[in-house]
Amino acid sequence: MLASELFDVSSEVVLVTGGGSGIGLAMAQTLASNGARVVLADVALERAEASAAAIRSEGGAALAIGLDVRSEEMIGSAFDRAEAELGAVGVLINNAGIAHRDKAAALSPKAWRSVMEVNVDGAFAVAQEAARRMIRDRRAGSIINISSILADRPIRQVAAYSASKAALSQLTRSLALEWAKHEIRVNEIRPGWFETGLTDPFLKGPGAKIMAAQTPMGRLGIGLDLAGAVLLLASDASRYMTGSTITVDGGHSIGK
Ligand code: NAD
Repeated sequence: MLASELFDVSSEVVLVTGGGSGIGLAMAQTLASNGARVVLADVALERAEASAAAIRSEGGAALAIGLDVRSEEMIGSAFDRAEAELGAVGVLINNAGIAHRDKAAALSPKAWRSVMEVNVDGAFAVAQEAARRMIRDRRAGSIINISSILADRPIRQVAAYSASKAALSQLTRSLALEWAKHEIRVNEIRPGWFETGLTDPFLKGPGAKIMAAQTPMGRLGIGLDLAGAVLLLASDASRYMTGSTITVDGGHSIGK
């Protein structure tokens, strides 16, 4: 089989939560430039609209929708609108996420809850909505959860974030197990260190150089580094993969 057929995403509608910026946007750009219709579903609507317009100006099909993954009502209407304007969502990238930096002893219940609400509760609610519609319509699908290398090997001062990503990893396997019979595959990408709004507090100043030096490949990640993993998991090329994890970190998690 030709690679162009195996990795074909041109008939897919892909909804990317938090797709207005950073890693989510980079993955959406890859998919759109390969012919997928992409939905940038983000709480920051203006930014998502600007990103969708940029994709359209390159010839891609993109729609921005305001979505807070903490709101069940907004999740339902985001899928309704995606379906009405672009077609039924066959690939979900559960990418919206936030981080909070604090010493574990000082971490407030509010900060803990806010990280869990977006990274775990939100990801689960969006996956559930996507899967319910796929099961209802007897459509196969692919759900890609964006976890982190910190799910396995935490660093200091990000206890809530690391725990949330470990929960998302276990959720990946739980959902994969339950939904395999519906031909819904659920897999996970674990990025290492990429410069985005989320990592800015960690990478600003000397942080970027330090993290690059701790990475065997000697640099931080850029959007393009995720293109292969996302094309694999979004397409039929991963047809027999579910419950799997793909780490994209320049070797960071194996240590220098
Ligand atoms: P980012 O801040 O650029 O992107 C996060 C996006 O999520 C933003 O567009 C933001 O508006 C959106 N968002 C936040 N809360 C939301 C909510 N309640 N509902 C909907 N959208 C919401 O940061 P990023 O680094 O691109 O993060 C994307 C994902 O990648 C996150 O899940 C993050 O944990 C994960 N990740 C990032 C790195 C990295 O090095 N940057 C590493 C591992 C994992």
